[in-house]
Amino acid sequence: MNKKPKSRNWVVTFLLFATVGVGLFSSRPIAHVIKTSSTDEDQRIPLPEGMTDDASRLNRTAVRKIWNVPISEDPERQLADLLSHAHEIGLRVSIAGAQHSMGGHTIYPDGIVINMLPFNRLELDADENILTAQSGALWEDIIPYLDKHKRSVAVMQSNNSFSIGGSISVNCHGWQFGRAPIASTVLSMRVMLADGTIMECSRDKNRELFSLVLGGYGLFGIILDVKLRVVPNERYRFEQHIIPVAEAFSTFDAKIKDQPDLQMAYARMNIVPSRFLDHVILNAFFSEEGEIPMLTKPGIAKLRRAIFRGSAQSDYGKELRWAAETKIQPLLAGKVFSRNQLLNEGVEIYENRSADSTDILHEYFVPRRTLASFVDDLRRIIPKNNADLLNVTVRSIKKDEDTFLRYATEPMIALVMLFVQETTDEGERRMETVTQQLIDSAIKHNGRYYLPYRLHATPNQFHRAYPQAKEFFRKKLDYDPNELFQNRFYLKYAKN
Ligand SMILES: Cc1cc2nc3c(=O)[nH]c(=O)nc-3n(C[C@H](O)[C@H](O)[C@H](O)COP(=O)(O)OP(=O)(O)OC[C@H]3O[C@@H](n4cnc5c(N)ncnc54)[C@H](O)[C@@H]3O)c2cc1C
Repeated sequence: MNKKPKSRNWVVTFLLFATVGVGLFSSRPIAHVIKTSSTDEDQRIPLPEGMTDDASRLNRTAVRKIWNVPISEDPERQLADLLSHAHEIGLRVSIAGAQHSMGGHTIYPDGIVINMLPFNRLELDADENILTAQSGALWEDIIPYLDKHKRSVAVMQSNNSFSIGGSISVNCHGWQFGRAPIASTVLSMRVMLADGTIMECSRDKNRELFSLVLGGYGLFGIILDVKLRVVPNERYRFEQHIIPVAEAFSTFDAKIKDQPDLQMAYARMNIVPSRFLDHVILNAFFSEEGEIPMLTKPGIAKLRRAIFRGSAQSDYGKELRWAAETKIQPLLAGKVFSRNQLLNEGVEIYENRSADSTDILHEYFVPRRTLASFVDDLRRIIPKNNADLLNVTVRSIKKDEDTFLRYATEPMIALVMLFVQETTDEGERRMETVTQQLIDSAIKHNGRYYLPYRLHATPNQFHRAYPQAKEFFRKKLDYDPNELFQNRFYLKYAKN
């Protein structure tokens, strides 16, 4: 072998490192990431005593009391006593899980907020694949618990930070392929009504109450515990396609949809302003035989956060993120994950911690036949209003057969959009305008908008999107005639 002298080897190595190092550290991407990371402090102001808020940080409200469900000494009796006391002294009651809804759905001014989070016991019937969960349990506790028993959640959101009660009360959905929203996985619930009675409800027993509480926004009673159908935890193989938006459905149909082991799928659209919504990344996960990877903490969280946060209020940051997602992520193709690992990611990886701005979610559901035209409207409405869109993921949802106030009245394509807005009156006004225009477009396309977010829809838009809402609010009075359970969502839409 022709050996080079040792000293020359060293020089070559040094020069290589130096070139790469200088190239990287002087390069714009690294500078951008370092700058984002170094200015990424938590500037959120803690709430003073007697105030509550939700994930929007735009609903700060004085309340009479925040009542944590006690975990010892018969919590259900104490809950019933609290409801009776609130009724006697004429206070309204709102119910809170993790408060990631954004329209004051957990808040009533000067009311009592019941914090359900301490109420969080779990029990698995492994023979029947049924999890019984108290409604304050968070997915971030449920997933590790199920993981130990080789099980997983059948339908949930894309993050693990939410409570079971909150997830069921909005009837959440995720990117589990070929699934209806979470209601389809609920076997039964125990619900405490305003007068303290506890009703068991399911598809066979008290069916009407079952359908009203699922997606019922805490207006019919307190969900105490839930029996959920769970599924096996599995090993998944990852596949990705980056394609022009116009080819999304044909590629999905030809290469993904009919593969027998498809378990999860979502798409992410390009949000770079100069190529707005022109390409899409299709991500698909297929179950396969083999060892299931262990549940670990999400990887490279700091870097992912810096790249994501660096895309807020920065066109360059958006370019950089798209480049990272389309050039680095494909290196993961063929990699394997566990189902639980994919589900077990908290909102903290991406959440906005700045004092001057906040991230606001929107979600629209349209049938597949009108999606292309709806996306054309997005391309027009969002830039025209100078709205800063950080993310769009696209998922498919099967028809919902279970809930009264349903959004998936037929199979729907869901577009989940994350915007960043300033926390000023002007920021609010602009977000309201863009939201109302997007809702009009969704309705025009035989679609709906998702209810847990800001209450920017006018009452007229709300009732056009949800024609069953008048009956929903009328039925509330059958179960809660004194309107004990109220929140800002009820205040805005029930009487208008
Ligand atoms: C970053 C982020 C990502 C999201 N991603 C998704 C997603 O992928 N898919 C999706 O579908 N949604 C998504 N959402 C919306 C989310 O599912 C809802 O906001 C959900 O309600 C959050 O759960 P929570 O525990 O925070 O509920 P909360 O905000 O605490 O409560 C929501 C509603 O449920 C009621 N409620 C809570 N607990 C009970 C109970 N025990 N009994 C009766 N009523 C109760 C409340 O009164 C309120 O009306 C996302 C939200 C955020 C902020």
